[in-house]
Formats: sequence, C-alpha cells, structure tokens
Amino acid sequence: MKVGIIGSGIGALASAIELKRLGLEVHVFEANAQIGGKIIEQHLGNYRFDMGPSVFTEPALLTALLQQLDPQAEFPYHQLQESCRYFYNDGQQVVLPVHKEAVAKTIATAFGESQANTLQFLDRMEANYKAIYPVFIQISLHRFRHLFAKPLIKALGRLFKYGLHLTMHQQNKKHFRNPKTIQIFDRLATYNGSSPYLAPAMLNIIAQLELNEGPAMPVGGMVQITKRPFELAKQQGVQFHTNERVLEILLDQRKVRGLRTEKANFDFDVVVSNMDIHYTYEKLLPAVKPPHLLLKQEKSSSAVVFYWGMGQSFAQLGVHNILFAENYEAEFKAIFESKTLHPDPTVYIHISSKVEKTDAPEGKENWFVMVNAPINVGQDWDNEIQLLRKRILEKLSKALQMDIEPFIEEERINEPRLIDARYSGKQGSIYGNASNNAFSAFLRHPNFSKQIKGLYFAGVTVHPGGGIPLAINSAKIVARCVLEDYPSLRNKA
Ligand SMILES: Cc1cc2nc3c(=O)[nH]c(=O)nc-3n(C[C@H](O)[C@H](O)[C@H](O)COP(=O)(O)OP(=O)(O)OC[C@H]3O[C@@H](n4cnc5c(N)ncnc54)[C@H](O)[C@@H]3O)c2cc1C
Repeated sequence: MKVGIIGSGIGALASAIELKRLGLEVHVFEANAQIGGKIIEQHLGNYRFDMGPSVFTEPALLTALLQQLDPQAEFPYHQLQESCRYFYNDGQQVVLPVHKEAVAKTIATAFGESQANTLQFLDRMEANYKAIYPVFIQISLHRFRHLFAKPLIKALGRLFKYGLHLTMHQQNKKHFRNPKTIQIFDRLATYNGSSPYLAPAMLNIIAQLELNEGPAMPVGGMVQITKRPFELAKQQGVQFHTNERVLEILLDQRKVRGLRTEKANFDFDVVVSNMDIHYTYEKLLPAVKPPHLLLKQEKSSSAVVFYWGMGQSFAQLGVHNILFAENYEAEFKAIFESKTLHPDPTVYIHISSKVEKTDAPEGKENWFVMVNAPINVGQDWDNEIQLLRKRILEKLSKALQMDIEPFIEEERINEPRLIDARYSGKQGSIYGNASNNAFSAFLRHPNFSKQIKGLYFAGVTVHPGGGIPLAINSAKIVARCVLEDYPSLRNKA
C-alpha cells in the first residue's frame, strides 16, 4: 500500500514514521524547500534561530517515535531547571523553577500564596493530566472502540475535579489570591493559542508539563524535533518531495485515489493531510462538503516574532522570559475581539544560546522576541509592527534598565501574513481553532474523514490539538485508525 502525506510538519513526519513501520510505501510532499513545517531554523550572520516553537515538553515522545524505526535511537535534550523568568511592570522579577515543591515555595515567597495551596493545585493538575491524557489525547474521540475502554472510567471518576463549568481564569482565580500568580497560570492558555478568559479549566493541566515536569531543550536546538525524524525516515526509505505543493486530493467517488501536485499526479491508497484543516477542505477538496460547524470555530492566535542577534549577553534573562502586560484581560480582548495588538503587550523572549552556546557568538545572544497577535483580517501590519517594535524596545529597556536597541546586530521579522503564506496557517493562526469554549475538545476535526475512505489528518489543527506533543499523538491516532481500516496491515503492527 502507498501513502501520500501533505506537508512535513512534526505531525506529518510522525505519521510517516508510524506508517512506514506498518510497511507502507510513504511519500511526503512539502510545498517549501525545507522539511519541518514551522519547526525550521535560520541563520542570520553568526546567529542561529529556531523560527517557530521554543517550548518543548514530553521529550520522551520523540525518543519513542524514533524507536518505532530504530530501537537504539535516542533523542538527546537538556532538562531545564527554570520554567520561566517573569517580569512585571512594577519592577518585580521572579525566576520560577520547576517541580512542584520548588514552584510552590517560590510562589509563596514572591507572591504570598500559601505553599500548601499551590502544592494542592499542582497535585490536582497532575492527577487530572494523568486521567485525561489517555482519553482525550491518545485516542480518537470519534471512534467508539477507542473511547470505551478502562481509562474512560478512571477519567469519569474525576469529573468533579476538572472544573467543567469554569474557564481557566475562573479556576485560577478561585485558587490563588495574588493577581500575579493568577497571571502565571492563566498564561498557559497561550500554549495552544487560546484565551484563559474563555478556555475551559480542563486546560490547566498544561501546568503538569510546564511546572511539574518542566520544559526541555533539544541538544542542537528545537529544529532537531523535525530534523531527527526526517533523517531517520529518509534513511528508512520514506521518499521526500520538497518544493512540491499538493494542489488536489484525487478521489474516486468516496475513496482516495491519489494526489495532484504542481509536478505530477500520484496514485495513493491512503492520504494524510498535515495542511491546516481549513485549507485542506478549501483548496484540496473543493468538491467535498466541509464540516462547517468545526471549521467556523474561532481561530487560535497568531504571533509577531522579532529574531534579534544581540551583541551582548544579559544575565537577568534566562532561556524563557515573560514581560507581562499590566492588563492581561484587555490584551486577550484585543487579540480575540478587536483583532488588534494591545499597546502594552506581554512580551516573550526565548534565548536558546543560554544553553546552546554555538547559537550566538561568544558574549552575544540570539533573541526570539514574540508577542501573541490576532489573526490576519487585513490590519495595517506594516505600521502595526513598527509601532509594536517601538513598544517592545521601550518595555525591555525599562525592565533591563538600559537602552537595548543599539545591541541589535541582526534582525528578521515573522508575522501573521507570513505564517499564512509560508506554512498555510489559515489567516496566520498557529494552531487552527482556538480552544475558546467549553466544548472545544469535541470541536476539533477527527483524525480521519467520515466521508472519504483512505483520508486522514494529522497536526495541530486537528484532534487532539495544539502543540508538538499533541501533533505527535495525532499521528499515532492516524496510524491506529489506518490499522483498523486496513486489517491486512496488522501482521506488521
Ligand atoms: C512563532 C511560533 C511559535 C510557536 N511556539 C510553539 C511552542 O513553543 N511549542 C509548541 O508546541 N508549538 C508552538 N508553535 C506551534 C507549532 O508550530 C506546532 O506545534 C507544530 O510545529 C505544528 O506542526 P504541524 O504538524 O501541525 O505542521 P506545520 O508545522 O504547520 O507544517 C505544515 C506543513 O505543511 C506544508 N503544506 C501546507 N500546505 C501544503 C500543500 N498544499 N502541499 C505541500 N505542503 C503543504 C507547509 O508548508 C508546512 O510545512 C509555534 C508556532 C509558531 C509559528
């Protein structure tokens, strides 16, 4: 059997590995010259930058993925000892460590929270995470045989612990006294491009990964997350077609027949789309009725990123840093309601050269400076971005107590229009739909088509959702569904 995969993001590469292991002949088509989707790198002068993701959790998933094709494979990474450094407008700075006890202690000292209360919250998030993971993240919510298994009973047993009637912010506000603590926990909604004032409290389980386990950093940078699977897949015979955009999914009645690319037509028994689900329907399946209810959900946020080669190192900063907005709620309203950039934005700075020393010349740093942004609805981005740059420089200069602009040696900018054009993220959205309502987990597109036999979907715009670990899980679900739909493959599994 032959499978054609559209796109080469981590969801696609994980699908390629999973399906290769099942014995399929696998072809990956990528519109761009580089493999890796949003997880690619660029060099500016003597600086190296990861273009997209910077927060990496659940590194064991990568090792397990590689071991599908090479049982000896390892995925080397640094386990970071800090989750993030936080800077507030009033001048307070807090370095948040990882692991429950240390987090609770720091939050008690910095913000006057009860240590026991924070610990209780983090314990609860761990238990919720462990209960929810097998039923919401590892399986399809759209196949009965996946759902009705033992873990569901365990997850249902904790139903009253999830805060089902609450948003993330409401649950955090119930638990913590200090608005600064609440802001730290609210921030986790941005990990899948959502607003904590709208996203369900269930998403507070992200604290398990960010605070209890803590972030990791691949040795060699984030780009290794796609580079390693690509190299392994290629070595094992997966065929990669770069600079080859797919134009249409070819159908024979209600069954997949192949792909039409810019260069040729190909026959395939199975197709996996890693393209944004909205564009998969709009551009590749024009004759198929799209699932309107799913696709019309609010889109996740986009981002404006400044990649700055800084001619100095800054001891106050760590690998991950956040300079919070004063009025967080107003910032999310700007992103999701008025679709504007807030005048006092939360600024995130990632500096991989703090651990990967060769990413910048000695004594210098590679800054990835990101602000969450609305999707592109035709804003005057050129002006908006110039204004944003000025505001960021002011905010950073104030926090670091020095004028930082003269240190910028290299600069490049990424923004919603480019995210759409480069990676086909609908209107620049990073994760497809936002999780901005209580039913969002059920309103993501399934990993298979209910209308077309042989058509599957992987990546952050479909179930189970946004983020690298979830994209890897989407591929695992695809492989399980393919195996169920084509029983002849079972002797390979
Ligand atoms: C600035 C930024 C910061 C982010 N930060 C994080 C983070 O810290 N942590 C995190 O987990 N996630 C983060 N993300 C989201 C992250 O990018 C995703 O988690 C993950 O990389 C998306 O993988 P994916 O498999 O969905 O596919 P993508 O990476 O979206 O890849 C899809 C690929 O499909 C290709 N394609 C589309 N249409 C076609 C076609 N017709 N023919 C051929 N190829 C096509 C595109 O060119 C692209 O290469 C960030 C994203 C951005 C942009």
